Amino acid sequence: MERETETHEYNKEDAGGRAVIDKIYRCEICGEESQNPVRWIAIHCSNAQLTVFKWTQEAADAPQARHYCGEAHAQVYISRWLESYCN
Ligand SMILES: [Zn+2]
Repeated sequence: MERETETHEYNKEDAGGRAVIDKIYRCEICGEESQNPVRWIAIHCSNAQLTVFKWTQEAADAPQARHYCGEAHAQVYISRWLESYCN
């Protein structure tokens, strides 16, 4: 029986001096998480406009940014957005 190695080692006595935790991005479609999301896609959108960005730190960290693990899931979101907007 093989288990995924998933160790959580927290030192509760060291809560004040924790190292900075890397930011984790999560795909809005499948929930995949990554600390190093190369080839991911960021989307900024409003009711009237949707903008697709190749992954950059700046695009990904914008307050209105949404994150997708790849082209396929970005397209899922774009399709949903178009459908909702055109109804
Ligand atoms: Zn995904």
